[in-house]
Amino acid sequence: MFDLKNPFLQRSNFLLILYGSLILIIGLLFMTFLGLRMLDTQIGILFSAVGIALILLTAFINYLMFSQLFKPIQVLIRETEETLQGMRKGGISLVRDDEIGLLANNFNQIVLDAQMKRMELETSNRELAKHAEIIEKTYRELDKKVYDLFTLFNIGKELNSTLSVESILKISCFTSMGQLGITAMTIVFLEDEEDECVMNKVYMKGLRKDTERPNTLKTSGDFLDFLRLNEQSVLFAILEEKPEFKHEIDFFNAYKAHLIAPLLAQDQIIGVMILGKKMSGEEFVQGEKDFINTLASMSALALRNARHYEQAITDAMTKLFLKRYFQLRLGDEIKRADRYHNKMTLMMADIDYFKRVNDTYGHTKGDEVLIAVAKVIKENFRDVDITARYGGEEFTCIMPEVSKEEALIPAERLRKAVEAIPFLLNGVNVTVTISIGLAEYSGDAQTPLLLIEAADAALYRSKENGRNQITLA
Ligand code: GH3
Ligand code: MG
Ligand code: MG
Repeated sequence: MFDLKNPFLQRSNFLLILYGSLILIIGLLFMTFLGLRMLDTQIGILFSAVGIALILLTAFINYLMFSQLFKPIQVLIRETEETLQGMRKGGISLVRDDEIGLLANNFNQIVLDAQMKRMELETSNRELAKHAEIIEKTYRELDKKVYDLFTLFNIGKELNSTLSVESILKISCFTSMGQLGITAMTIVFLEDEEDECVMNKVYMKGLRKDTERPNTLKTSGDFLDFLRLNEQSVLFAILEEKPEFKHEIDFFNAYKAHLIAPLLAQDQIIGVMILGKKMSGEEFVQGEKDFINTLASMSALALRNARHYEQAITDAMTKLFLKRYFQLRLGDEIKRADRYHNKMTLMMADIDYFKRVNDTYGHTKGDEVLIAVAKVIKENFRDVDITARYGGEEFTCIMPEVSKEEALIPAERLRKAVEAIPFLLNGVNVTVTISIGLAEYSGDAQTPLLLIEAADAALYRSKENGRNQITLA
């Protein structure tokens, strides 16, 4: 008849006990009441005793039903509430062999499943967050790469817009320092591309100038081969592990090297960029190394082109501009003077009795004199002035925005400086002098050719008047 383990859960049982108990208690109360009224009789005593006993029995059966049905249900309700509110961790504590126990077990299973699902969800959320982080990092890196490429593109434009070695060194140096936030930077550069192993310091930024450092790196072919094969920048720390490059290591160390980037132009190392530490103290990341490698190769090509151009317009012996370049610049400066209504003065200078120097001390000594005089000429004028070797021992200088009267000052300074050079030729103390002529555009002449002729004529008058002097056109 009972197909449920807890008989009290059977509706018919429950109702039977409920209504039965009610009717029974009423009947028993009546029977007991009657019995108590007839306590002096035997039947009265029996009625009372049986009545009370049966009332107690009914009460016990009801208590049993209560404890088997309502109490566990109350526990079930309370503990499910607590579990749902998160106050209980271990699930419902009821252990019963009936349907209420089953209910509790099922609830615990559902809670357990939900917890598992939540854990899985949390794990996926964490994975998702990790992926989001990776995507964001990649995006940032990509953003930086685009910025670097844009910067490199602009640097490329700048590098290609100049043919001055000095400007290219400046652009390369400032860009790497600014872009990577590095503390110091030095560029050493092959003085002579024929001699592959001698590099001179040509640019330095961010290091104390008063500290003693070697200016020249006489490097070995092995080291250049190492850089050439490597192609990329090398961390100084890696170089330090190679005792065979001790000489180079000592040199780079003097320049506080942290990263060495070779200036590689068409398979030839023409110099090295020595990069100091980053201001942040952090290590260079791959993107930054890529940036410096690209910048170094762009700079190398630009430097080689600029040097070839400088060589093409410079006199190898005196390091002054050649006549052809001077003529081009004279045309430009005259146009500029016209455009801005500026003054401009041209100087022609010629060494006095130079033939005698050659004849007395030999041609080689004559060359030494030429080189020394040219050096004094170069140092005497401003950066904007254009000094050139016009011919054998004739020199010229274009002085923009200067009248011939104003040009007298540097011309006189030059005359005195040349006179003061102490030559020792074949053991003999010798001095040389120069004669100078100055002509102004456009007062003295209106075309480049006429201006040269005017300055030349003034120079000729200096010669005629006894040499070692200056004449204005
Ligand atoms: P003056 O005072 O009139 O100028 O006398 P000068 O002897 O300097 O006259 P001139 O201009 O006739 O002589 C210039 C000499 O310069 C002739 C040439 O041998 C010499 N010369 C030209 N180029 C070079 C060079 O590259 N090296 C050397 N050593 N001599 C040169
Ligand atoms: Mg002369
Ligand atoms: Mg001459």
